[in-house]
Amino acid sequence: MSLPEHCPSCGSCGFPMREPADFAGGQPGAAYCSTCGDEAGRLRPYDEVLQANADYLVRQQGLDPAAAREMARALLAAMPAWQAGAPGRGA
Ligand SMILES: [Zn+2]
Repeated sequence: MSLPEHCPSCGSCGFPMREPADFAGGQPGAAYCSTCGDEAGRLRPYDEVLQANADYLVRQQGLDPAAAREMARALLAAMPAWQAGAPGRGA
């Protein structure tokens, strides 16, 4: 099994998706990672994605929860899925 030279990254958080399990719903080709997308590959609501990414930073980098939430907010703000007018943004 060979990996593509550059792997796709999540349109919501930028996480590189290498394994099928990294993709939403476990489906390679999904636009979002398993943290940001649901079982059907659809983007989760902003608050859920924000919280999930903050939790990930707490686990992976040992950040304080409040600091992790701020970092996650800044991260998501730069991603295409969360630009003003993007479908995932919601009301
Ligand atoms: Zn993601």
